[in-house]
Amino acid sequence: MTNFEVITLFPEFFTPYEKEGILKSACSKNIIGINVYNLRNFATDKRKTVDDKPFGGGVGMVMMIEPIFKAVEAIKKNGKSRVILFSPRGKKYNQRIANRLSKMDQIIMICGRYEGVDERVAKHIADEEISIGDYVLMGGEIPAMIVIESVARLIPGVVGTDKFLKNRTKNVNAIEYPQFTRPSVYNNWSVPKVLLSGNHKKIEEWRDKNKKIF
Ligand code: SAH
Repeated sequence: MTNFEVITLFPEFFTPYEKEGILKSACSKNIIGINVYNLRNFATDKRKTVDDKPFGGGVGMVMMIEPIFKAVEAIKKNGKSRVILFSPRGKKYNQRIANRLSKMDQIIMICGRYEGVDERVAKHIADEEISIGDYVLMGGEIPAMIVIESVARLIPGVVGTDKFLKNRTKNVNAIEYPQFTRPSVYNNWSVPKVLLSGNHKKIEEWRDKNKKIF
């Protein structure tokens, strides 16, 4: 079982997401677990402070190391685990990383907000820093959802049958061929003839030629 553990200041973001059909059913079958933790609960002062002004001056607030340290310490279990910090400075996320993460027992994800996270979190707490692309978001919550979706579908039993998964795993560094369904002609836009030919060899060739390798 793979447990996705999300540390965030905005746990409500994940409420509709956890209700999503496929993930919900995978959770109820105990194939995966999704646990969302409010970082504020790990703050150590009465006012539940999680951010402070940056050393050296400048605008905005920076997320403090201590609540994050406490949260990770409380959540981390024995077994294969990975602590991920989301950051636009991180290594760019791709299908290979998704595949590697799908073999973990626990994926702990730290979602930054504001001007980001005290850099010591990247150095001393996180195992890796992941960016989902070369643009800056307002927080790590959507990146966490991206990791959950892309990793969950590689875990046996989450989507479709084992046969589907084999196909997916095999294609881990590629996107499958384009798909079409009925009608074969719509508004004069027709599907590639070869797919209607019933010639399996030709179809395989066409599909192979039309897949995208990462
Ligand atoms: N101060 C930073 C931006 C911080 S964005 C700067 O201007 O460079 C706030 C948080 O959003 C980050 O800590 C990170 O967790 C998340 N985030 C923003 N863009 C991201 C991206 N491309 N990939 C992953 N996480 C991102």
